[in-house]
Amino acid sequence: MTTPLPLARELQDLRTSEIIDALDATFLSLLSWDWEVRVARYPTSHPVLGMPDCEIPGCVKGTPLGEPICVGCMNRWRRSGLSLEDFTAQGRTGRLRSIGQKLCEVPQCERPRRSVAARLCPAHQYHWARSSELTMEEFLSRPNLHPLPAIGPCHVASCYRTRSREGNLYCDVHASRLGIERKRGTFDGDEDKWRRTTPAVAVDREISLRGLPDRLVAELLYSLQVRTVREVKTRDHRFRTICDRVRLLQIPSLEALDDADLDRVGLIDDLGMIIRGARTALRRLGTTPDTERLKDIWDLVVFGHSGTLNFTKIHQKGFREAVKVWAYDELPRRRGQHVASSLQNTIRGMERLSESLRLQREDGGHQLRLLSRTDIDNFCTRMAFLTETGVFGAYHRVHVIRAVRQILNRIRVLGLTAHGEILDGLPVSLALSVQDIPDEPEDTEAGKDLPDEVMRELCDNLDLLEKTSYREIRVATELLIDTGRRPDEIAKLPWDCLTTDPDDSLILLYDNHKNYRLGRRLPIAKATAAIITEQQKRVRERFPDTPTSMLKLLPSPVANPEGKKSIGTIGDQHRAWVDALPDIMIPVVVELDGKHVTRLLPFDKSKIFPYAYRHSYAQRHADAGIAPDVLKDLMDHRELSTTQSYYRVNQERRREAVDRVTALQFDRHGTRVWRKAQGLLDSEHVRRAIGEVATAYGICLEPHNVAAGGQSCPLRFRCVGCDHFRTDISYLPDLERYLDDLLRSRERLMSAFEADDWARSEAVPSEEEIRRVRRLINRVKADLDDLSPEERSQIEEAVAVVRRSRTVMLGMPRIAQPMPDVRPWRLP
Ligand code: SF4
Ligand SMILES: [Zn+2]
Ligand SMILES: [Zn+2]
Ligand SMILES: [Zn+2]
Repeated sequence: MTTPLPLARELQDLRTSEIIDALDATFLSLLSWDWEVRVARYPTSHPVLGMPDCEIPGCVKGTPLGEPICVGCMNRWRRSGLSLEDFTAQGRTGRLRSIGQKLCEVPQCERPRRSVAARLCPAHQYHWARSSELTMEEFLSRPNLHPLPAIGPCHVASCYRTRSREGNLYCDVHASRLGIERKRGTFDGDEDKWRRTTPAVAVDREISLRGLPDRLVAELLYSLQVRTVREVKTRDHRFRTICDRVRLLQIPSLEALDDADLDRVGLIDDLGMIIRGARTALRRLGTTPDTERLKDIWDLVVFGHSGTLNFTKIHQKGFREAVKVWAYDELPRRRGQHVASSLQNTIRGMERLSESLRLQREDGGHQLRLLSRTDIDNFCTRMAFLTETGVFGAYHRVHVIRAVRQILNRIRVLGLTAHGEILDGLPVSLALSVQDIPDEPEDTEAGKDLPDEVMRELCDNLDLLEKTSYREIRVATELLIDTGRRPDEIAKLPWDCLTTDPDDSLILLYDNHKNYRLGRRLPIAKATAAIITEQQKRVRERFPDTPTSMLKLLPSPVANPEGKKSIGTIGDQHRAWVDALPDIMIPVVVELDGKHVTRLLPFDKSKIFPYAYRHSYAQRHADAGIAPDVLKDLMDHRELSTTQSYYRVNQERRREAVDRVTALQFDRHGTRVWRKAQGLLDSEHVRRAIGEVATAYGICLEPHNVAAGGQSCPLRFRCVGCDHFRTDISYLPDLERYLDDLLRSRERLMSAFEADDWARSEAVPSEEEIRRVRRLINRVKADLDDLSPEERSQIEEAVAVVRRSRTVMLGMPRIAQPMPDVRPWRLP
């Protein structure tokens, strides 16, 4: 049990008592904390701090959670070459290291033994040695054996051991440690300092906070408590090292510690991280929104969000304070993950206004009463100039002006320009109207999808992603690619996210956090469902004790003993992976000596980020001819216009692709119809769209058939023999399939197929037709061979686009179109 705290009130140090008040009694008793002794002991069973006993008989060490044996035994076992069973049966062998201090076995003797193996204190040991004819048991049962009183504690500040000999200042360990230091010459002669700074004897699962100022003790305990509550593990040896190092620094408080100090005593990497985390936790302790709002940089954790808000770039004091009032008023209405960045983005508008006033006015904009509409005009002009010169984009300009308008309006609504308020005297003309907002640039959502080559390369390298990060990141990426959800929707998926519709089709259940629409249902493919099922299995095995309703599908690998926390962002690992991939070459049309030519150029990798998969998903479905209202539902968009932008891109791309493939168009004789790759006129596109219908492997221009939507072919679709027929490179696969069909049906009809002779002879494909189709195929292929590799890959891409959007196959049997998949080879 912990003793009641002896110090806080007496200390009259308000901050220290504030920190001590924040310590949880249950947490302190978990550490067997006693303010008199000041040694924290890790418990044997606790999901975060627990260190169970090593399973090797005779070993007294603690093991990291989830491992059967301690690090020392693990090393010995590896060297032993034995099986774990044999090694365990053998028990702990070799010299036993002393763990803690044990008392003499003479009843009531208060002096410590010299070692674990010795059973008596040095004084009684001496007695026993002199009565050499007695066994230990006989010696211990002698009636005139007197227990000896304790000599007192070791004089090393961090040590809680007792001395074993009269005349010694230190416990045996510290006495010998000092001796060794003297012998080696590492002792600097200042014994008083040595006593204050030398570490305690390291004991497994124990951390001595003795010899540290009360404030520091409270801080260290508090930071351990904060970590533990967050389920972040803090291994005992790490925490011990930190205590030893800050003791060496002899500082009064962690808050007085700067980064140079940390470096000096080697508190770097993970130790430095623990300290920095501790300082953040301490800074937050005791802050309230009301104290935080007075600062120029806000820690939003105090307001229940994450991140910070920075107001320091607004130079004019009045504006800065007013924007703080605005932010304080705005915060309670915001929710979600990105509150900090979205508010800071709006504040950035005011930063721009502030900068503009500072640069363009002699008084730097500090005299609010003198501001006028001219300043607004100057600001708008400056924004336009910075956009023109490429300092930022058109979208940013619109955003900045909107933000300034929003904040200035709101500031007036909040009454901040009233008499006696922060912006008292700000002229009414200092405002922006709707007319000041420039036109919105073209929609930026669509057109950010990744080309097929890039998607293919990424899908081929998922193994590498798993190797450089971990399994969950790979699964997250696969799901992003397959489902087009937003990255945080995937990251936060619950374990139980897979279900089926009444018709047995597979459904992904997810939450649309952005718009706060929960429990959305998305149809997914079998292959995607398989990824989920596989991952569910893994997670179940890893956390067998947590109910599935509380598990996450993608559990975080850190600070997550029960699997209830999701991975954070996948951005960093994803970026590292993409950057590590070799260049991905894609065909690009460039202008060379005034001519458009195709070149294979490396794809700009900065365009490959997790959100791009959402764009690709949308574009893939739009390209595949999924109706806009269906896609709107699939994307869970609120506005149809957002979804429709994908179709606009689709139109443009298709038009371009059609231009390319029709450049390689042939008639039935295999003669090229257009020789030059030139853009078709707009009217030509329209005319083509209404003046032709598709056949199985090309298009038909026969007016009656076109008018009948392809249902009225007098030739019964023997298009290779028809003058109204055109085909192009994009039909090559269909031509080849048609040829296969012809050959196969001829073979079947030639063999024992039961049919009347007349039907058979009419149905058997003619030699001529087969020859024509073959010739056409060869013609198209030969033309393809003439192209340079760049042109060929460009054509291949165009063919892919055209084929994807080709949904009309009138008059011919058609296979039901599956949902488009980036990795079609996964389909059954
Ligand atoms: S054979 Fe083919 S191209 Fe000729 S009319 Fe019939 S469908 Fe059209
Ligand atoms: Zn062990
Ligand atoms: Zn004794
Ligand atoms: Zn000691």
